[in-house]
Amino acid sequence: MTRYWWFEKITPHYSHGYNVIPIYEKRTPYQHLLIYKNQLWGRFLVLDGITQFTEKDEFIYHETIVFCPAASLDFPPENILVIGGGDGGVIRELQKIPEIKSILQLEIDQEVFKACQKYLREIAGDYSDPRVEFRIADGAKFVTEAPAESYDLVIVDCTDPIGPAVVLYTEEFYKNVARILKPTGRFIQQASIPRFYPETLPMAYYRAQKAFPVVEILRAPVPCYGDEIAFIMGSKSDSSRQPKRPYQGRFYNPEVHLASFAIPSWWQDLLHK
Ligand code: SAM
Repeated sequence: MTRYWWFEKITPHYSHGYNVIPIYEKRTPYQHLLIYKNQLWGRFLVLDGITQFTEKDEFIYHETIVFCPAASLDFPPENILVIGGGDGGVIRELQKIPEIKSILQLEIDQEVFKACQKYLREIAGDYSDPRVEFRIADGAKFVTEAPAESYDLVIVDCTDPIGPAVVLYTEEFYKNVARILKPTGRFIQQASIPRFYPETLPMAYYRAQKAFPVVEILRAPVPCYGDEIAFIMGSKSDSSRQPKRPYQGRFYNPEVHLASFAIPSWWQDLLHK
């Protein structure tokens, strides 16, 4: 079996090295897709040279992006919109919330969904669940046409703001998300790794503030990323800091929820640069 070292180039002077077995590769109409296997991290997905998640620690990311917004609602969520997330990890966590009635997922790249279903099936949720509707579509386009006040949660599990995801970090996108969110709903989006990509968090935060009266930042320690990942959470009503339901995961719990909103001072400095 071929084995070699693959380097995820983080900056011109720093990279993460993985000894890998190549599993799958495809240049899709949107991005360069790679699936590798590594002794420590298991199988992992790479898009345009950036590690998206690994089998070993994806649960930390997926539980945070699902349970933090879900637990902050006064009532259990019922109608969910997921943008991106072609690996199915977000769907898996959402399916643990029994009150959910409908989940619409929009993934722009069919090849990501197909490759993850074939080579990373274990982390995906159950797409035969009648509550789940999966479409190949651009999330930015969909939100311009969707009816107002339709969703309790809008979860944007997208790639960093390069390629197809650039449109998902625009003021126009955030304003459309705010329009389709119910008055008590929540919006959450990954805002990359401030240590390595410090421009993404302030960009997303200030643009989202043009659409949402309340925008908060949270963080999660996902080891394969090399440092903590940031998320922004938008609300048209109140703060999301207090957990209102005791969801319990392998990573997530009400104490972790509270801690997730305590952001380091240097992140606050990034916002005031
Ligand atoms: N957890 C990962 C991370 O933090 O970087 C994200 C994983 S998920 C695989 C990202 C997905 O977003 C990709 O499959 C990509 O095709 C999808 N995506 C990017 N832009 C999109 C858009 N405009 N509409 C829908 N899906 C999009």
